Amino acid sequence: MTDALRVTDLKVNYGGIQAVKGISLSVGQGEIVALIGANGAGKTSTLKAIVRLIASQGQIDFFGAPVGNRATHQIAALGVSLVPEGRAIFGNMSVRENLEMGAFLHRDAAERKHHMERVFALFPRLAERLKQDGSTLSGGEQQMLAIGRAMMSQPKLLLLDEPSLGLAPKLVGEIFAAIRTIAADGLSILLVEQNTRLALKTAGRAYVLVTGEVALSGDAGALRDDPRVQSAYLGGDPARSND
Ligand code: ATP
Repeated sequence: MTDALRVTDLKVNYGGIQAVKGISLSVGQGEIVALIGANGAGKTSTLKAIVRLIASQGQIDFFGAPVGNRATHQIAALGVSLVPEGRAIFGNMSVRENLEMGAFLHRDAAERKHHMERVFALFPRLAERLKQDGSTLSGGEQQMLAIGRAMMSQPKLLLLDEPSLGLAPKLVGEIFAAIRTIAADGLSILLVEQNTRLALKTAGRAYVLVTGEVALSGDAGALRDDPRVQSAYLGGDPARSND
């Protein structure tokens, strides 16, 4: 089966600074792949470059076809959706309106309703808060809304930037359960996450970025047991890697 995403020799420069130094990675269909690494390693830049929010060099293929000169909105139309860090929901719009904005590519009302029901099945809290303004939601609920809004466009490939950031453990659990459900339904996911333990528990494979380069990659379970990952990202205690 062709990969959902294949990135080859991707480079991102900010002025004279090279933030991403020629990385290659892939996400198979239905696979959860994690991109982990310290602050400033280049994770967000990689995601933004993949959907052409920022300029980059290198090759990007979605579902076996080169992205070519497509702009961000055309990439969305291919079924690729980015849930950015910080969620970026519309604070002065209701939960329902936010979700409807996510379905702008789908004009059919019955279809939109169907997608919304799928979002409510994933995140029942959103159904209870339909009329509430986005800005009045808790951080965790905003993250649910951001993922829910992305799901409304019926993506085939979801790029998630730090979905656990700043959230209480219980909500992180709910969100990651939903991420697993989404992937089990066949969606492909590239997950950027600073919570290395959680990322390696959720993903099948992972890439470790260090100052813009892939330092390590492979099976997520094997990386969890790797002493280099243990000492740099998991507090160096192998016994804790199984929690
Ligand atoms: P974090 O988890 O802190 O967001 P990250 O791994 O996502 O980190 P990036 O945000 O991609 O890393 O940043 C990679 C490098 O590029 C950092 O050194 C950062 O300071 C730099 N950088 C990011 N955005 C810009 C920008 N708009 N202009 C200049 N430099 C930038």
